Parts: sequence; C-alpha cells; structure tokens
Amino acid sequence: MSKTFDVCIRGDGVVGRTLALLLARERLRVALVSQPQPAEEELPSADVRAYALNSASRKVLEALRVWPDAPFATPVREMQVWGDDGGQIDFTADSVAQDALAWIVDVPALEQQLIQAVRYQPQIELVTAPAKAALTVICEGKKSTSRDEFGVQWTVKTYAQKAIAARLDANLPHQGIARQWFVNGDIVALLPLGGDDGRAVALVWSASLKHAEALEHMPPEQFCAALQAICGPEAGQLILTSDRATWPLALSNADRWTGNGWALAGDAAHTVHPLSGQGLNLGLADAACLAGVLAQREYWRALGDEKLLRRYERARKADVAAMGAVTDGLYGLFAQSDERWQALRNWGMKGFARSSLLKRWVTGQAAGL
Ligand SMILES: Cc1cc2nc3c(=O)[nH]c(=O)nc-3n(C[C@H](O)[C@H](O)[C@H](O)COP(=O)(O)OP(=O)(O)OC[C@H]3O[C@@H](n4cnc5c(N)ncnc54)[C@H](O)[C@@H]3O)c2cc1C
Repeated sequence: MSKTFDVCIRGDGVVGRTLALLLARERLRVALVSQPQPAEEELPSADVRAYALNSASRKVLEALRVWPDAPFATPVREMQVWGDDGGQIDFTADSVAQDALAWIVDVPALEQQLIQAVRYQPQIELVTAPAKAALTVICEGKKSTSRDEFGVQWTVKTYAQKAIAARLDANLPHQGIARQWFVNGDIVALLPLGGDDGRAVALVWSASLKHAEALEHMPPEQFCAALQAICGPEAGQLILTSDRATWPLALSNADRWTGNGWALAGDAAHTVHPLSGQGLNLGLADAACLAGVLAQREYWRALGDEKLLRRYERARKADVAAMGAVTDGLYGLFAQSDERWQALRNWGMKGFARSSLLKRWVTGQAAGL
C-alpha cells in the first residue's frame, strides 16, 4: 500500500527545500519530490550565480539553520546605481539603520546547507514520484510541468534579453559595495563576494539577445574589456574566473496559485526580471507565508482546504504583482533608446537621489524590512 503524507512538495530547489523544512518543524510529514539525477558525466557545472537576499529571507533561512557561513554570505553595505547619462543613486545600509542592505549568497553553498538539513530531518522523505498527500505544493520552478494538471494559466512576457552570469576577481577590495549600471539597454550588476574583505564579484549582465550571444562566446580578455568599458575604474581591474552561463528572462505569472488540495510557490507561481535581485526573495516569502497559514489553521480545517489556501494566495499575490510591475517598469524605462527617454530617466534618477525620504522608503522595501 502506498504511503500517505500530510504534504507533497514537487520540486527540490531552494524554495521547495525551505518549505519542506518549515513544514517539518510543524511536525507535518512531508514528501519532497526531486527529478532523477543525471549521470555523473552529464551533471551541470556549479551555478555561477550569487543571490542578493534581503533580511526577511535571511530570517527564514537562519531560523532553519541553513544560512551559509560568513564568506558565502557577503553583506552589502552600499549600493551604487548609474544611469546612462550622468544619473546616479547611492543607497546605504546606514540610511535605514541596518548592518546591510542585503547579503550576496553563494548559490552552491546555500544549496548544500539545504541538502544537509533535509537529509537529517526525519519528517521529510525524499521521493522520485508524486506521493499521496492532503496538500500538494508545486515548487518546480518556471518550467513546471505539473501546473497544467491543475488547470493553471501561465502568462509569459518574454524580455528581448538574456542574463549572463559569471564570477570575476578584481584588483581592489569591493568594500561591501554592490554596483549596477544601466547602459544602452544593458543592465550590468557586480555583486560583492568572499566576505567583507573580498575581491571577488558575481556578475549579472542582462543584454539584448544578439549582444548576449556575442558576449557569451567572445574570448575572456575581450569579454573583460567590454565589461570594463561599462564599469570604468570603480570596481578595479576585472579578470574572469569562471565559465559564463546564460538565462532567458521573462515576467511570468500564474492566474491561480491555489485550488482544492494544491498550491504553487516560488518560480512555479511567478518570475521577475533579475535586475532587482528579488525572484528568490519572493519565493522564500511565499514559503514562509504558506507555512504560517498552515500552522495557524483552525483545528477542523484540512491542510488542502481551498479557503485556507486562498489566505496564502491573497497575502502574497499583491506583493509579487507590485515587484513584477516595478522591475518591468524599470526594464521598460531603460530599454528606450530615444534621447528624450534617456534625458527623462536620468533627470528622474537625479531627482530621486535628492529625495531622502523617498530613497529611504525604497531602500527599506528592497532590504525586506
Ligand atoms: C541570472 C539570474 C540572477 C538572479 N539573481 C537573483 C538574486 O540576486 N536574488 C533573488 O532573490 N533571486 C534571483 N534570481 C531568481 C532566482 O534564481 C529564482 O527566483 C529562484 O531560483 C527560484 O527558486 P525555485 O526553487 O522556485 O525554482 P528553481 O530554482 O527553478 O527550482 C525548481 C526545482 O524543481 C525541480 N523540478 C522541476 N520540475 C520537476 C518535476 N516535474 N518534479 C520534481 N522536481 C522538479 C528542478 O530540478 C529544480 O530543482 C535570479 C535569477 C536569474 C536568472
């Protein structure tokens, strides 16, 4: 006879594993479905990305004891953003009375912490096929195949951009500064790695499809020269230390996140442009919210009760829609090549930089306060 669980989580990415750990803490029996591992020789190389995680995400991961050690979670003390015609904005952790605006977390280090924690949690069973449960949560990422099973409509607005991620070393310490440039429609971010005294940075370069294709395949010296031409001397002399990996970019949304006996979370429910580094922050907030709603349910409500699950959907959807609109608006504003748009956005940046109240509010929002 097949075993029955309280919750079956389909997808063992960061969101799926985090949710499994949160639910196990509430003494729920969880089946965590993973895809079969590819053969050793076909394993993908380690993820070169690093995630900017805010203080809300940090709290969730710390409570589960899976927050990576100091060198793998570098505090961002300051963020500098440049427009394409002299516009510039600085955000500092001091301005919102915090130690850090965000932490740049090494992806493989975070994944390892989660894998270990799940392995030692007896309430979680790793399975290779969906198991019978009162509630099924889909955390399969943006390419989820299970969404269709539940009749979910998935709307995608594809951006004419790809993100290139890579690691680089600089000849200057980064001093905990994250830097971002908006140039001719491209968006370049250099995120500090290796702790407070580090010199390594994680690059996320969002470029038009044609430009991204060229950047991905050009020799490393030429790639670094192209990058340096955008970054100038601010981050020091940069040397490529990893492969380059690319991701297609899109704003996507599921029309429904919940139904009788099922829910969606993380990228399976929504994706945003990575220019604001918020996709996983949103997914972790989904996991925390869903776990909270289930823990606080009335004693007579079943875990898969549609009305109960709607509380989670209502609590999260507006937040996610707002972040989607902000990133989409910024992308659209900087994608315009017309000089009048260029003047307008740089004028807007300068005005924003002078408005300390507005700046403090935006800084607090981005920091997840
Ligand atoms: C270039 C780039 C930079 C980014 N930077 C940031 C950042 O700085 N900060 C931030 O917050 N976010 C960032 N993001 C977003 C972040 O990567 C995603 O939001 C996050 O990875 C989503 O996690 P997830 O667990 O929901 O989905 P995924 O990471 O996609 O995980 C889904 C998991 O489900 C498994 N799976 C899929 N189908 C099945 C199935 N049928 N059965 C079982 N398992 C299945 C997959 O193998 C995978 O393990 C960035 C994204 C990109 C592209």
